[in-house]
Order: sequence, then C-alpha cells, then structure tokens
Amino acid sequence: MKSVSVVWFKRDLRLRDHAALHAAWKSGQPVLLVYCVEQEFLNHPDTAARHLRFVVQSLAQMRVELEPYGHTVYEFSGGIDDLLHYLLQQGYQPQLFSHQETGLWTTYQRDLRVQQWCTDHGVVWTEFPTNGIIRGLKERSRWEATWRKRVEQEPFPAVHAELVPFDGASDRMLHTGLLAAHAASLPEDGDARLFQPGGEAAGWAYLNSFVRDRLRTYRRSISKPQAARRGCSRLSPYLAWGNLTVRQVMHALADADPPWRQDLQFFVSRLHWHCHFIQKFESECRLEWENLNTGFDAIRNEVRPDWLEAWCDGKTGFPMIDASMRSVCATGYLNFRMRSMLVSFLTHHLWQPWQAGVHHLAQQFLDFEPGIHYPQFQMQAGTMGVNTLRIYNPVKQAEENDPDGSFLRQWLPELAELPLPFLREPWKMTELEMLSYGVRLGLDYPNRIVDHEEAARKAREFLWGTKRSPAARSQVGQILARHVSARKNAKRRGGQG
Ligand SMILES: Cc1cc2nc3c(=O)[nH]c(=O)nc-3n(C[C@H](O)[C@H](O)[C@H](O)COP(=O)(O)OP(=O)(O)OC[C@H]3O[C@@H](n4cnc5c(N)ncnc54)[C@H](O)[C@@H]3O)c2cc1C
Repeated sequence: MKSVSVVWFKRDLRLRDHAALHAAWKSGQPVLLVYCVEQEFLNHPDTAARHLRFVVQSLAQMRVELEPYGHTVYEFSGGIDDLLHYLLQQGYQPQLFSHQETGLWTTYQRDLRVQQWCTDHGVVWTEFPTNGIIRGLKERSRWEATWRKRVEQEPFPAVHAELVPFDGASDRMLHTGLLAAHAASLPEDGDARLFQPGGEAAGWAYLNSFVRDRLRTYRRSISKPQAARRGCSRLSPYLAWGNLTVRQVMHALADADPPWRQDLQFFVSRLHWHCHFIQKFESECRLEWENLNTGFDAIRNEVRPDWLEAWCDGKTGFPMIDASMRSVCATGYLNFRMRSMLVSFLTHHLWQPWQAGVHHLAQQFLDFEPGIHYPQFQMQAGTMGVNTLRIYNPVKQAEENDPDGSFLRQWLPELAELPLPFLREPWKMTELEMLSYGVRLGLDYPNRIVDHEEAARKAREFLWGTKRSPAARSQVGQILARHVSARKNAKRRGGQG
C-alpha cells in the first residue's frame, strides 16, 4: 500500500503557521491537500453566500501560491471519511492531519463520526490545537498560562514549497471549483466590492497597515461605527476563517513594536478575548441552543414575527438600530458596540429570545465565528447570569457614537435631510415638521415599534428579578469556575465584598 498524508483544511485557510501542514510535510510522504464541501455547512442556518465567497477567495489564493510547486488544494464533495474510504479502496494508506475545530454542533458530530471511522479503519488522525484553545478543558485555572505560551511560540514556517506531490488525485473525485459553482448558484449576497476579500495576502495587508499606522486611533475609534471601520484592525474575518493565527498577529505586533502603548494593550486584550470566548464554546457547546444559565429559561419564550422581521430588515423605526443592521447586511462588518446594541435591542427592548435572532446576525457577519458569536450573543442577552446587564439606549448610542449623524445619514437616506435631533428620534416630529422636512413617518420611514424607555424599564425589572432568583443564583459558582479564570474569579469575589 502507498502512503499518503491528507491535510484537511477547514477554518484554517492558510499556508503559514499551519501545524497540520507542517506535520504532513515532516511525514516525508506524498501530501494531498483537501477542502471538503460539506452539505452540513452549506445548509446550516448560520451560513450565507458571503461566507462561501470568502472561503472561495481564500482557497483561490492558496492555489496561486501552490501552483509553482505542482500542488493545489482540492475540493471534495462530501465528508473527509468518504474521501479516506475512497483512498483506501484505491490502495492508499492515508494518514489524516487537521486542526481542532471549535465548531457548531454539526461539525462536532461530524468530527465524532470521522474519529469513529478512523478508529474502525486503522487510519491515524492527528489534530492540532487552534490558537489558545484547549480541548476538553473543564476549568480555567491553567488556561491563561497556556494561552500565553502558545501565542509566544514561534509560528510554524511555510513548507508548501517542499511538499512531496501526491500523484493519485482522480478528476472524478477531486475538483477545484465546487464551492465557487455552488456560491455562484445562490442569490446575490450584496455587492462583493463592499466586503473584505478573503485570503492570507489580504489578511496580512490589514495586519500590516494596522500595526504600522491604524492602531494609533484604535481606542478612540472602537465604539464608533464609522471610525471603527478604519481604526479597528478588521482582522476578524481573517482570524475566523484561519487566514491568520492569533500567534502571527502577536508576533507582528512584537516585531513592529508600535509606540501607542495603551492602544496596543487594548488590542492585545481583544486578541485574548478572541480565544477566551471560543474556549467557553469549546467547553460548553450547548451554548448554541440553550441559555448558559438555565435560570433564565422561564423568560422571553414568545417570538413576535413582525418585530423580528422589522429588526432583521432594519425597519424598527429606531435610526441607530436600523442603520447598524443595514450597514452589516450590506458590508458584513459592524463594530462591537453596535453588535451589542442590536442584540440588546432584540432581547431587552423587543423581549425576544436570543435564539430568534442569532442565525440572522451569523449570516450577516463576514467574520462569523461560532465560538465568539454564541457566547457574545448570550452575554449581551444577559442569559449567562454572571455579567453586568447592559441595556443600550439606541438614542444615547447615536448621540455618543455618531455625534454628527453621518452614519445615520449614510444608511438611512430617507432621513438624510432631517436635523440631528429628529434624525436620532424621528418620532418626536410633529405633523407640520414632517411636512416641512418631507419625511412621512409610517410611509417613508417606519414608526418606532416600541417605546424604548418603557421597554427598557420593564426588561431591567424582569432581568434583575430573574438574575436574583434562586434558580439563576445557584448556577453562578459553577459557571464562574468553568468559564472565568481563577484570577478574575478571585478579583470578582473581592469586588463583591
Ligand atoms: C453579538 C456579538 C456577536 C459577535 N460575533 C462575532 C463573530 O461571529 N466573530 C468575531 O470575530 N467576532 C464577533 N464579535 C466580537 C467583535 O464584535 C468582533 O470581533 C469585532 O467587532 C471585529 O472587528 P475587528 O477585527 O476590527 O476587531 P478589533 O477590535 O480590531 O479586535 C481584534 C480581534 O479581537 C477579537 N475580538 C475583538 N473584540 C472581541 C470581543 N468582544 N469578543 C471576542 N473577540 C473579540 C476578534 O478576533 C478581532 O478580530 C461579536 C460581538 C457581539 C456583541
């Protein structure tokens, strides 16, 4: 039997700092590089055409780099176990290399299936950790030290120029345009030019311009939806789809040694959060569908389809909410504060279960990363029971983070002519004012669907009541031990006296 090392690409679409690729190269065997086009991914309610486009762009770039060395990344329609089976039938002895994916329930189930198949067929599958995530971690005491150690290690060197080619790729089984064809068959998902392009080169371009220049305005841009587009790193899609690793970013920062120390510190803490949140999901995958603190199960059980639709379409009648939603739908990006505000509005003001809106935003975020998305959604919805409850006032957010109204005007052209106070609170216009500005509420722009102050007051009451309930309080200790580091936990206890 001839040996072959199969490198299975998933959310690790790069050729550098790639532990699995490095190990396959070290095996000295011919190497087959493959991306599986899986129905579970294509059909998942979190997947959108914009994600496929990003993956297609990332694969295309890898192919350009591999081509001079006689390699490519093949695409296989189906599960990796089907491909391994085929290789066995063709007389090959495959060995499988991949990264550990902290994915959705479907990818977890797939991994269990692949593991079982490998065991049954005597195929060795070696998985490598992703960034600072520790598989099977039950409590957090070791986590910080491991994170630091991992991100400080030297990145793996690029080895793609030295791989031994695999000559058994059959045209019948392995292709290079499957995902692109599928993506092309889907309805248009926005104007591609408004989205960040996928691929390692684009990721490095964003990283380099950030560490050399854009970092200097990081702190003052982070909460502002327009300034953040330039002042934040915009690395999230590249980290989410694995064009870059956190380690590469940390090393680029160390090499550049930027002088803006406070901005740098702020940014590094976000990189840390990247892994911290994914670790929560890795340790507790039920976060995908149920409240982390089940003491919150009794509230917000009814969906109002008309309100949900208004929220999804950016037609709630609250300009800051609608502009944020429209901008993320059109460009795939929104800064952290506005993401939080959208979830706060959905779950607190509209009193909808977070599950009702989680897939819609997953589809909009180009950087959709299940390990951050689900825990963040629950945190903003207040269903973890261990964080401070935040109910963002959309009018105040507009005043503070879009002081000149340019973000609102960009995304709500129907309100562009309004003076600032009415631009933020159009419901305060009288009939006469509507006439003079040429904006008819209910026709040109929706009436607001709730009274936000009254809704926030009610939500606060319910949420605090639930947070203090014995059912919710009884779970706090266990949640803290599992998801918060020992140091932060001690500080927290100290803070609570
Ligand atoms: C409801 C909700 C859902 C979110 N879903 C995602 C998601 O699917 N994918 C995703 O990458 N981020 C998500 N975030 C976190 C955050 O909003 C984005 O990471 C950030 O806005 C991306 O822009 P940036 O790369 O310019 O970030 P920067 O501010 O430049 O931060 C650098 C990197 O740090 C990480 N990071 C930054 N903020 C956070 C945070 N609050 N929590 C965890 N990691 C963080 C990201 O990897 C980011 O790329 C979500 C936040 C909320 C409130």
